[in-house]
Amino acid sequence: MTDINWNDYSLETQAIRAGHRRTQEDEHSLPIFATSSYVFKNAEEAALRFTGQKPGNIYSRFTNPTVDVFQQRLALMEKGERCLAFASGMAAIMAVGMGLLKAGDHVVCSRGVFGNTVLLFQNYFGKFGVETDFVDLIDASAWEAAIKPNTRFLFLETPSNPLTEIADIAVLADIAHRHQALLIVDNCFCTPALQKPLELGADVVVHSATKYIDGQGRCVGGAVVANEDIIEKHIYPYLRTGGATMSPFNAWVFLSGLETLAVRMKAHCDNAFELARWLEQQVGVSKVYYPGLASHPQHELARRQQTHFGGVVSFEVVGGKDKAWALIDATALVSITANLGDVKTTITHPATTTHGRLTPEVRAAAGIKDGLIRISVGLENVEDIKRDLGRAL
Ligand SMILES: *Cc1c(COP(=O)(O)O)cnc(C)c1O
Repeated sequence: MTDINWNDYSLETQAIRAGHRRTQEDEHSLPIFATSSYVFKNAEEAALRFTGQKPGNIYSRFTNPTVDVFQQRLALMEKGERCLAFASGMAAIMAVGMGLLKAGDHVVCSRGVFGNTVLLFQNYFGKFGVETDFVDLIDASAWEAAIKPNTRFLFLETPSNPLTEIADIAVLADIAHRHQALLIVDNCFCTPALQKPLELGADVVVHSATKYIDGQGRCVGGAVVANEDIIEKHIYPYLRTGGATMSPFNAWVFLSGLETLAVRMKAHCDNAFELARWLEQQVGVSKVYYPGLASHPQHELARRQQTHFGGVVSFEVVGGKDKAWALIDATALVSITANLGDVKTTITHPATTTHGRLTPEVRAAAGIKDGLIRISVGLENVEDIKRDLGRAL
């Protein structure tokens, strides 16, 4: 067999084929290496592997062939030099903080990030002397104004959850770099199938593989993608020591998720676009949030920055919380659950679930109204999803 340079191939092909070195068993499907440790030929080889003078597996907290294939594939797909897998999306974000920050550092973070990310920065990194300021995702001047001499990085998600606001990654990367800071992007909502933050100037991409990368709601996992220098100096030593490792079984599930990622994302986006346009016409719906709609304030930016508009649609119903809850309870097909990125459509009331721990004032400032409903549009026939919501409306 001829060696392949996977950088020459497109994302769909990388997602299916890159990284698998067939063993002497000639298997076609990637095996799960369920082993905690590896055997050395002799004592000298063990010593050389431990010091890194000789490549090879050592111990599955930080080297496992199945996990490694997942890492290689995601790195290629994100156009990054290297990827490390973690036990969850939160473990990946934790690793970025533990690897890059020290006491006395400062972080600027979007107000619109995943709730646990806010808590991680505020409560846990805060406990060790790292200060975080939160800013409006789409206000570039607020980001720049919040930067201090000790700012180590800027952290954001785009599109935001649940209001689907879009940040200009290239502009914020430029601002970060002018102040000797890094830009970290949580690319969970778009995945590399729709958006490649590293190509736009970001320094680090983090993922919750739990969402679209798995795609069928089975496993919890995460990843960090960056250049060799950042991974080798800052992230890998923390993974090796801190140990929030992805299991080989989960890596194997995520690899099969990656194989269908591009086609699934396209189908999610097509269904979401159709549902968003339909929702805009429904009596009782006062507002629809979806970057694909011409009414979305950053529609043009989304067109430029993403190859498609994503699978999450939010909308407001007239009548506040009571009406929103009644609508959710009147559905029959869609699942009432906070997870997203699944082939099954899910429906959530952000004000009383994902954003329920915020005070009413903070929630109002973040634009999360009581009548707001978030839908992660799945791959069922969109007419069936419409029928379910239409009856509930
Ligand atoms: C779910 C999620 C996370 C956390 O990932 P887990 O795998 O649940 O730990 C982080 N960021 C975003 C945008 C998410 O949706």
